Amino acid sequence: MLDACHRYFHAAADVLGLSDRVRTILITPRRVVKVELVTEGDDGLLQHHLGFRVQHNDSRGPFKGGLRYHPTMDEDHAAALANLMTWKTAIVNVPFGGAKGGINCDPSALSKSELSSITRAFVDQMQGLIGPTLDIPAPDVNTNSEVMSWIMDQYSRREGFSPGVVTGKPVHLFGSDGREEATGRGVMYAAREALKRQGRALADVSVAIQGYGNVGSHAARLMAEQGARIVAVADHAGAVHDPKGLDNEALGRWVREHRTVAGYPDAESFDGGEITTWSADVLVPAALEDAITVDNAAGVRASLIVEAANGPTTPAASEVLHERGVQIVPDILANAGGVTVSYFEWAQNIQQFRWELDRVVDELEKVMVKAYADVHDEAERLGVDLRTAAFAVGIRRVLQAATSRNALRHSIDIN
Ligand code: NAD
Repeated sequence: MLDACHRYFHAAADVLGLSDRVRTILITPRRVVKVELVTEGDDGLLQHHLGFRVQHNDSRGPFKGGLRYHPTMDEDHAAALANLMTWKTAIVNVPFGGAKGGINCDPSALSKSELSSITRAFVDQMQGLIGPTLDIPAPDVNTNSEVMSWIMDQYSRREGFSPGVVTGKPVHLFGSDGREEATGRGVMYAAREALKRQGRALADVSVAIQGYGNVGSHAARLMAEQGARIVAVADHAGAVHDPKGLDNEALGRWVREHRTVAGYPDAESFDGGEITTWSADVLVPAALEDAITVDNAAGVRASLIVEAANGPTTPAASEVLHERGVQIVPDILANAGGVTVSYFEWAQNIQQFRWELDRVVDELEKVMVKAYADVHDEAERLGVDLRTAAFAVGIRRVLQAATSRNALRHSIDIN
């Protein structure tokens, strides 16, 4: 995935005319942290995990990015995702840089108290490196508001009351109304803005979604509220479809109880591997990376892909899709609603002032509409696809900030 990020970065850097020296400075993480986490399991035996945090760039503000708990988590993974965060925060113009991290664990094999101990050990090891003005973690795959509460608690034990050290907290513990569904809501706005420029609306389209976790389930519900028909949904354990449109409320209830869409009784089952080539106008990959590769790109039947997940399309697949005229709204734009409301949460924490949900939703819509327009206009101006344009917008803003702060000694002329 790191290779893919670098290829997308260089495509935009080519268009911007950046020198090799500037590329190296922008692409290299400021700090890479790897920590050993030794904790006691419920059986009294020692458990051993590795924690990672890659702090990629802080030219525009404190490092910001999620924490992922997954057996495949490693340094390269964190580096790739941190890199994306740097451009993403710049595209939505929130005052943060980019970071990402996680722990190489399988949360499904751990009890809640074991997960809490591992999380707290990670916070201790990150002492002096995370904080409300340094680096602010957030939820990602397999982490949630409860994990964020543990982080806030552990950090506050040493540093005093510090809700701004982490975002995605429960609403009753200084979280923000609207944060949980923010990424899905942003995906809905991105899809709406893309369709609008094609003369279509969400009410005109059918949608297939891969992944029905935080992002996928809220995106499904919110797109359906705008009239879209969610015709197929797949997750790690199964897939269901209904050409008339799935009942998202009922499916959501089923998933909350059974933790998967598999077995949902009011729709037909199918092989989840077919979701990316399902017959639908819009495809929303909202699971993990590399969902769309050269092996299935030729079979994609959607005319619009809205990348809710990070890195769901490989560069080779992107080329195939581009040649076939399939439009892709890239991850660093499409899923930026989460970090945007994370910024609102952090701002509320810093000010000790709570926003109403209506305000969060209004401000998020404004940010997403502006970000989409900025990227769309850049694509038209430079004659490139939306992904290259999104990277170009992000890179330019980071470069301007770095130059003004003298992090890069000479000002740099860019296209
Ligand atoms: P989640 O853990 O809540 O949900 C992940 C979903 O993907 C689950 O439904 C799971 O069953 C499904 N899945 C896993 N492996 C699969 C497979 N092989 N095939 C089909 N489905 C599979 O995670 P999330 O928070 O919804 O994140 C999903 C994606 O969105 C990730 O790429 C994440 O980095 C990205 N993202 C999340 C946020 C956020 O605010 N949560 C913000 C930006 C980007």
